[in-house]
Amino acid sequence: MSWSPPGGRKWPVAILGATGAVGQTFVRLLANHPWFEIAELAASERSEGKTYAEAASWIDGEMPASVAGMIVKAADPASITSSIAFSALDSSVAGDVERRFAESGKFILSNARNFRMEEDVPLVIPEVNASHLCLLERQKKERGWSGAIVTNANCAATVAAVALAPLHERFGVETLFMATMQAVSGAGYPGVASLDILGNVIPYIADEEPKLEREMLKLLGSYADGRITPARMKVSTHTNRVAVEHGHTVCITASFREKITVESALETLRSWEGSEETRDLPSRPEHPLLVTDAPNRPQPRRDVNAGAGMTVMVGRVRPDPILDIRMVALGHNTIRGAAGGSVLNAELLAKTGRLDAA
Ligand code: NAP
Repeated sequence: MSWSPPGGRKWPVAILGATGAVGQTFVRLLANHPWFEIAELAASERSEGKTYAEAASWIDGEMPASVAGMIVKAADPASITSSIAFSALDSSVAGDVERRFAESGKFILSNARNFRMEEDVPLVIPEVNASHLCLLERQKKERGWSGAIVTNANCAATVAAVALAPLHERFGVETLFMATMQAVSGAGYPGVASLDILGNVIPYIADEEPKLEREMLKLLGSYADGRITPARMKVSTHTNRVAVEHGHTVCITASFREKITVESALETLRSWEGSEETRDLPSRPEHPLLVTDAPNRPQPRRDVNAGAGMTVMVGRVRPDPILDIRMVALGHNTIRGAAGGSVLNAELLAKTGRLDAA
């Protein structure tokens, strides 16, 4: 039987940065969530005091009626009563704001980069590295916070980590080369100017390559005795912004410590189901990873919404004449790579009793 909170409990939650691209995705995913209820929305001074409908330039479909009239609050722990907050804050403010929330007893689920690489902060994709949540005990002890911070990864790193986790678990990635084609919604709203991106490819995304390279090592690293041992692999990346609305594509080439063939890689990718304890969570897709045999897939236009945006699609698995294997992975950047990943983290925290005090 699937797990659900005792007594049909629903946790009231706040969304910080609720007006942006990721914040709006949180609103869509949480508007009818079985365990969480949107109680508060917060953003910058520009939005504070306005109704959500006035403050947010809504991007996709219809704004849920339940939030349209809510008054946007300051992203300040003094104005937020919910003890759980999903953060889609711009990284220029997220560091300070999220720390103050955690100090004041709030549980923060963050999409921002600021705390991801801190040694005592979990960087989690539940199907890949659920055990990393054990870092929370160390975080509490060392920081003395009555709240906590759990982060999810950079959107392109999330796609690559889900695609590589099964192969890394069995064959051990040794060398990894990746080139991304990243959607415009990854740059937030309003994001990249249309005259810069239409009919164009921009071969630079500020800070993205180092983020991708270091986060892969933590995501695929192993937890023991209060610390993460980073995965032992060499990583090189190229990141590009392309004229795609949603969905980051990652071309991956890798060599492995153990002998691998295309057949054993395909068998491993197809049979992988991710960590057992995530299987009954509401936001977990039936298949966190799907392999396509079509020679011209995955494609953002056709595949980005697989598993309601939570499935990473992998295709073109083939031998590589320089390293061992190459393949193409695609995932939805604001769902799997941001808000959806964060909601899944919160569901796992709820199921494992870590939100009981919240
Ligand atoms: P965005 O569209 O630019 O939204 C930024 C949000 O932060 C807005 O709600 C904005 O509120 C708020 N904000 C800005 N300055 C603030 C301040 N001084 N005080 C309080 N709130 C402030 O960006 P986004 O793409 O949604 O990204 C949000 C976070 O998620 C970033 O840290 C980003 O790196 C990360 N992320 C994004 C993606 C993606 O695919 N887009 C994926 C993974 C992670 P106002 O509207 O009031 O200005």
